[in-house]
Formats: sequence, C-alpha cells, structure tokens
Amino acid sequence: MAEILIIGGGVAGISAAVHARRAGREAVIFEAGERWGGLLDHFHVGGFRFDNAVHFAFSNNEHYRAVLEMTDYITHRPEPYNYEQGRWLKHPVQNNLYPLPAEEKVKAIKSFIERPDQSEDSNYRQWLNEQFGEVIAGRYPARYTEKYWTVPADSLSTDWIGSRLYRPSLEEVLFGAMTDRTPSTYYLPELFYPRRGGYRAFLDPLVEDLDLRTGKEVVRVNPVKKYVECRDGSREYYLHLVSSTPLPVLAGMIDGAPAVVGEQAAALWATSVALVSLGFSRPQKGGHLWFYIYDRDILPARAHAPSMKSPDNAPQGCSSLQFETYFSRQAPLKCSGEELIEHVLDAAEKMDVASRPDLAVADYRTLPYGNVVFDRGMVGRRDYVLDYVRSCGILPVGRFGEWDYLWADQSFLSGKQAETLPFVV
Ligand SMILES: Cc1cc2nc3c(=O)[nH]c(=O)nc-3n(C[C@H](O)[C@H](O)[C@H](O)COP(=O)(O)OP(=O)(O)OC[C@H]3O[C@@H](n4cnc5c(N)ncnc54)[C@H](O)[C@@H]3O)c2cc1C
Repeated sequence: MAEILIIGGGVAGISAAVHARRAGREAVIFEAGERWGGLLDHFHVGGFRFDNAVHFAFSNNEHYRAVLEMTDYITHRPEPYNYEQGRWLKHPVQNNLYPLPAEEKVKAIKSFIERPDQSEDSNYRQWLNEQFGEVIAGRYPARYTEKYWTVPADSLSTDWIGSRLYRPSLEEVLFGAMTDRTPSTYYLPELFYPRRGGYRAFLDPLVEDLDLRTGKEVVRVNPVKKYVECRDGSREYYLHLVSSTPLPVLAGMIDGAPAVVGEQAAALWATSVALVSLGFSRPQKGGHLWFYIYDRDILPARAHAPSMKSPDNAPQGCSSLQFETYFSRQAPLKCSGEELIEHVLDAAEKMDVASRPDLAVADYRTLPYGNVVFDRGMVGRRDYVLDYVRSCGILPVGRFGEWDYLWADQSFLSGKQAETLPFVV
C-alpha cells in the first residue's frame, strides 16, 4: 500500500514526491518510461546531447529558483530571431520591422495605427488584429499559429496568452522600423541552463532519495477500492493518488467514469512535436540561440542550438541544431522521419544556418504530447473533466494532468500541491 502514489516521473511528479516527503509523507512515483524526467529529459546521438525540444529555465518563483540554484548554470540573454523569406528579423517582429522594404513597413505601420478596438470576447485571430493590425497579425503571428498550434488562429481562444506576446506602443513600432538598435523586449530577462548534463541536471538533486520506479505504466484506476493497475499486471493500493498523466488518458482509465466525462475528455487534444536533431562537425553557422520560422514551405516552426545552450551538449569543436515540427489529429504529419530530415537539411541550407557536408549525426523522433490546444470551449470541457477527476479523490498535476499551458516552473508548483494532501487515519 502506497501512502501517496504518483503517476509520472516528470517535473510535476517529482515535485509532488519531494513536497510530500518534506511534509513527512511517504510517496512513490510510477513512471511508464525507462527514464525519469518526462519532457525535461534528453537523449544522446553519437557524442551529442539533445533535450526534448528547446528548454531553458526561468522563474520568478522562489521555490523553483531554489531548485535552479543547486546546480551550476549558464545565464543566457534571450535574443531570439525570426526567419522569413531570406530575411532575419529581431524578436518580436512587431517592433523590429527594420529589415523589411519601405513599402511593406508603411503598410504594416498604417494597419497598426488603424487596428480595431479591443473587444471582450475576441477569438485569437481577432485579438491579434486588435493588438498589431491586420497586416502584421496576418503575416507573422497568425501564420506562426498555423505551424505551432496546427489550426487557424480564429479557432483558438485567448485563454493561454498571458504575457507571451509583446504589445508595443506606436513609438516602439516606429522606432523598430527605422533602426535595428532596439532594446530587448522579450518577456523574460534571463534564461538559465545547466553547464553540464542538459536541462534534466537541474532535477538531479531532487530525485536522489525518491522512491521512483520506472517501467511502471498505470493503465487502470479504481477510485472506489483505491488501487491502480499497471501494464505489467501488478496492482498497487493507495491512500492518495496524484496524476500527471494526460487528463484525457486518465479519464479513460478510471473504472466507472460516466459517458459524458469520456465525451468531454475525448474533445481535448494536444499537438505533438516531431524533432529533427542534427549534429555538425564544425562550430555553429549563423549563431542564433533559437529562432522562429514563418515560411509555409518550411515545415518546422522553430529551431534552437543545443550546443549554444551549453558547449557540454556537443563534442569539442562541433555544434548542433534541433528543429521542431508540430502536428496533431487536426493536421497529421504527411511525411516519414527520413523525409523530414531531408526537408530540414534543405531548409537549413536555404536559411544558411548549416551545411550538409558538415553533418555528423541526424535523428528523428516524436513527442506525443507538446502543447494542449486552447480551441474555443476547451476550458469549459477541461474543467468539467478536472472536476470529475477531483471528485474521485485524485489530484491532477502538471502540464498535461491539469491540461494547461504550463512552463516547467509552473508544473513544479503544480506538483507542490501534494504537500497539502490530508492525513488519512
Ligand atoms: C516544445 C516544448 C518546449 C518547452 N520549452 C520550455 C522551456 O523552454 N522552459 C520551460 O520552463 N518549459 C518549457 N516547456 C514546458 C515543460 O516541458 C513542461 O511544463 C514540463 O516539462 C511538464 O512536466 P510534467 O511533469 O507536467 O509532464 P511530463 O514532462 O510530460 O511528465 C509526465 C510523465 O508522466 C509519465 N506518464 C504518463 N502517463 C503515465 C502512466 N499512465 N503511467 C506512468 N507514467 C506515465 C510520462 O512518461 C512522463 O515521464 C516546453 C514544452 C514543450 C512541449
């Protein structure tokens, strides 16, 4: 019998176990995979290390900052770039239009000035028009949305935006159209990354004393008799259950869940990420830490340089890039892994960030869960399922357990809720 049984050994599950133990409780983590870390884990190809997609650490939260401080890290100034049809624009594009031809700048600025007033219940596309004007919205964030969220912007709500998109003043738009000497307006001032060991090294000090069992995939939950069953046929009873498994998956595992819960859960969906990871036998060409790609004929939405995050991620004198292509049940990937690698290599040469003759290793793999999609009405459906899960006495945590757009620090804080679970006598 486990006092607190936690499904999932990502940062949320690890945090749940750490905080439960600090509160004097006994906790065990069941992780389906052979390694812990979830999205914050990495893999090796040849002598190169790649995280599961771009991962930097940042947080205003004292608890997560304390975790970061336990590891030796590199501090990066965030200076992302944007690639569009042979041009590189500083980020964010809306106040860095400098490289565009004069006629295009005039159109963009005129449309910014004439942008519609903000309304209460805009969809994401309307919201973009209201912030940036039709021209900038259509050319940049709306097009990026189709690649990153895999659906048109007008099918999304605005529940997830927060501080993620910068809303410049007219002065900032004008200034950025006249000069490239613009100040950084990225919403995070600094980004942190372990000097050695990939992002997951930040979590190493936390897992040392935990009871973390890998290869234990939970496939069934009985909330009345309080046990879980694993794919290996084993059964474990619990007093409290914490789950970071994706919410729709959990809903489908609960014995006796009403059909309406299943229907609401089935309408929740997330994007998946196809990663193409490339190692090169030479130092970095171009030198952007990460960049966004707007061209429709280039499949990846985003790329980053693991070897710039830390030189420890590549053999000496070598460099690496990783490209993220998003797909979903609304927009399946239409090519094989090998074809995507070829496509990415062509695109990298076109963007002049890599040369084929320098290629040392190439890897293709997918992450089944990337971003939960905030299509319109999603929040209501999600909350309905969450209420049901909680009514079963299960604590949902993490990015996919809570079904929210959480960064790593927020997933960590989500897991921290396990410290409040009541004692059972
Ligand atoms: C492309 C991308 C880029 C990102 N970049 C950043 C960034 O730069 N900075 C940042 O702070 N955050 C970033 N994030 C967010 C960050 O990755 C997440 O917030 C965090 O890793 C989520 O942790 P988690 O524990 O909630 O989920 P996960 O990491 O998904 O962990 C869940 C774990 O549960 C296991 N599991 C699932 N089902 C079962 C089951 N039935 N039985 C047993 N085990 C199970 C899984 O194998 C997995 O290990 C990014 C996310 C993505 C997708």
